[in-house]
Amino acid sequence: MTLLDGYNTAKKLNHELKLEIDKWKGLKKPTLAIIHIGNNAASLSYIKGKISAAEKVGIETKLIHLKDQISQKEVEDNILILNNDPQIDGIILQLPIPKHLNKDRLIDLISIDKDADGFHTFHQGLLYQSRETMVPATPLGIMLLLETYNIKLNGLKAVVIGRSNIVGSPVSRLLQDAGATVTICHSKTKDISAYTKDADIVVAAVGIPKFLKADMVKKDVIIVDVGINKVEGKLIGDVDFEHVSKIASYMTPVPKGVGPMTIHALLKNTVKLYVNTMKKRNSI
Ligand code: NAD
Repeated sequence: MTLLDGYNTAKKLNHELKLEIDKWKGLKKPTLAIIHIGNNAASLSYIKGKISAAEKVGIETKLIHLKDQISQKEVEDNILILNNDPQIDGIILQLPIPKHLNKDRLIDLISIDKDADGFHTFHQGLLYQSRETMVPATPLGIMLLLETYNIKLNGLKAVVIGRSNIVGSPVSRLLQDAGATVTICHSKTKDISAYTKDADIVVAAVGIPKFLKADMVKKDVIIVDVGINKVEGKLIGDVDFEHVSKIASYMTPVPKGVGPMTIHALLKNTVKLYVNTMKKRNSI
């Protein structure tokens, strides 16, 4: 089994991104604003990871920390300020956000020119038309990882478990665009094994530790484990790594698989927005 090493792949790709950013020395630095509402512990740790990776490649970050009980209007005002701030190239709203807030409305308020997560309906719409767009970070990171290992998806049978707007659905679309025949399984699917056993590649984005077991996949399957589940203080994926790794041809570990690639993709998206903006201003 070949490990799809997201950690070292992201390190290499981040270094390449740094070299690109270094070319613009003397100009305004690419800048990512992160809106964090409340005190979700997992979010705090993801944000720390994003800030530290951004700093290493030369992307500035601005963290806007808002209190749990903030009103919809106040969050919207914060987004509008960032939309109009010429220093800011990318904006992300760290999810999840408190239930009393209208998430869709907030995401769609982010300027399409600054939508670093690609969650805006405009970008999602382009994605589902297979057009050039801002691709959400996790699906983009997965595709870059598969590309790095020269995994050809054309003609493969792919099964994606999970249909969320941030992982399952967009990655399904990208796999389809890459030539795979894609089946999407979800919480209402009956007998998931019937689909996964036939799959050449399985992407698991469920959020249930060790959901995918060895008897649910065929020999030489390619496994992308997106899941991040904290169990007794340890990070566990959606795939039973110990047993499935004995059957798979390629497989991502958890941690150090999809996670670092997601962060790389976010940085890459930020730089893409920066370049677009700087070109519009005739600055590069
Ligand atoms: P989500 O909760 O929005 O979606 C989960 C999906 O799993 C849903 O579409 C649901 O239909 C499906 N599902 C739930 N129970 C199921 C079952 N019993 N059988 C089949 N399908 C079932 O989650 P998400 O945001 O898509 O994230 C999924 C996992 O990926 C989580 O563990 C999350 O922490 C992780 N994640 C990791 C990264 C990363 O960078 N590695 C990024 C985003 C999410």
